[in-house]
This record gives sequence, structure tokens and C-alpha cells, in this order.
Amino acid sequence: MKPIIAANWKMNFTPEESLRLIDDIASQGLPSDVDIIFFPSFISLPAVVDKLLDSAYSIGGQNIFYKENGAFTGEISASMLKALSIQYVIIGHSERRQYFDENAKQVNDKIHLALKAELIPIICIGETLKERENGQTDLVLKQQLNSAFENINLDNQKNIIVAYEPVWAIGTGLTAEKNKILDAHSLIKETLETIYNFNIPVLYGGSVNADNAASLINIENVDGFLVGGASLKSESFCQIVKNITKNFERS
Ligand code: PEP
Repeated sequence: MKPIIAANWKMNFTPEESLRLIDDIASQGLPSDVDIIFFPSFISLPAVVDKLLDSAYSIGGQNIFYKENGAFTGEISASMLKALSIQYVIIGHSERRQYFDENAKQVNDKIHLALKAELIPIICIGETLKERENGQTDLVLKQQLNSAFENINLDNQKNIIVAYEPVWAIGTGLTAEKNKILDAHSLIKETLETIYNFNIPVLYGGSVNADNAASLINIENVDGFLVGGASLKSESFCQIVKNITKNFERS
């Protein structure tokens, strides 16, 4: 499996700025042995799709609404993303859980809708600092997995991705210790393998940058990264990709 690098641009960049960033990244001739997915804002998606449709890069939405359609002013549905030829969608990002009160039921509903629309969801889970300090990390991860995957039927491992993102590590410059990442990823993989009988890719997210990417990618069961801040500049993003491909030791 190639490492997966998901670039979450959050609420940054106009369409013109998004295209400029893609040009800068593409001009650096990135290696092809990494799967790169860009997550622009909704407003930039059409321009980015136009530009990248026949390229090696994939595109995702940062969110969808938890209902299929209807009177939900300002929201975007799974089938709307699909109609734009989008392949992926981030679901349950901690910023959505924190600032928009997104709850476990909504996360589960969104996953159902994403799969129904044939989008590949990247489901974010992770503990807060308080939960971690109280020794509740495993419990929280299991609860989040159980609720997210409730009544989710999967045909194969390519339909879904999980991102382990300790909330306290997102955008803070702090990363989890390697043994903690290994424990969390192993727990996630084992929990899902018991249900589905196959190996679902698990990304790590939380202050990944050009300096730490090479060592983080070689932690067992880390299949790639969800990158926020360091994906906003072509230099840091391309350096992450290059450092990963140089150092990725698994086949
Ligand atoms: C994220 O937003 O998912 C993320 C991991 O952000 P950052 O890389 O900035 O910590």
C-alpha cells in the first residue's frame, strides 16, 4: 500500500490561491509512490477539480451534512460532492466536533451517506488532553470507533480510512510519542479487523511537519498522514512528501 498524504486546507485560500498552491506543488515534481489527496474549501472545489481531474492527485471535501438533502440552509450533501467527481470526504474532524457540536450519531449518519454516495470517508477520531491525562485514551478511541462504525457495512478496505488525531496535537506543534501512536493505531486496526476482517488504512494527524514526517511514517501501522498547517505552504508540504518516500520502509 502506498502511503496516503491528506492535505486539509481548512478555511484557507480563495479558488485562485488554491490553484496557485497546486501549481507550486506540482512544479516540484513529487514522487508517484505516495497517494496525495487535497481537501480545499467547498468554494475552491470546482476550480481544483477542473485542474486535477486527469492527474495523479485526488480531491476531497472537508465535510458533508448528516442529512441527504432538504431545508438545511448553507449545507452541502454527499451527493453534491460526488456530482463534482470528488472522491473523498473528511468526517468527524475534531474542529467540527468542538466548534460545531458534531456528535457521534451525526458522524455515523455522515459515514452512511458518504458510502451511499460512493465517497471514501476519512473518519477522524482522537482523545482530548484531559482524556489522555485521565488514562482514557483507549476507551475513548473504542467508543468513537464503535459509534462511528455502527451498522456500517463495508465491501473492502479501500472504501474507508481512519485518521487518529489526538485533539491536543492538532495545530499545536505537539506530536504524540511514537509508542503512543503505535498503541493507538494498533488498537484501531485490531478493533476494525475484528469487525470487518480486513486491514483498514489508519493515518496519523497532529502537527506533522517536514522534520518529524520521516520518523513518524515508519511507526508500524501508520499508513500515512492527515496534515493541516504544514500543507498550506508548498515548501513544507513537498518536503513532507519527499521525506516520507525516502524513508518509507514497508512494501
Ligand atoms: C488537522 O487539521 O487534521 C491537523 C492534523 O492539523 P495540523 O497538521 O495543523 O496539526
